Amino acid sequence: MKITDPVCGKTIVLETVEAHMEFKGWSYFFCSKTCLNCFQREPDQFVEERSGAPPSIRRPGG
Ligand SMILES: [Zn+2]
Repeated sequence: MKITDPVCGKTIVLETVEAHMEFKGWSYFFCSKTCLNCFQREPDQFVEERSGAPPSIRRPGG
C-alpha cells in the first residue's frame, strides 16, 4: 500500500515507513523522522479539515 507523506509530498510504501503519528484520530505516515518532527511542530499546517475521508490518501501532484 502506498501513501503520501503530508509534509514533503513523497509517495511512500506503508511497509517501509519510518515514522508515524496519530493526530486528531488519524494516522499520518512520514518518509523520515525529519518530516515527522516538522509535522509535530505545526500539524495544522499539513492537515486539511476533513469530515470522514481518510487523510493520508492524496494523489501526488493533485
Ligand atoms: Zn517526507
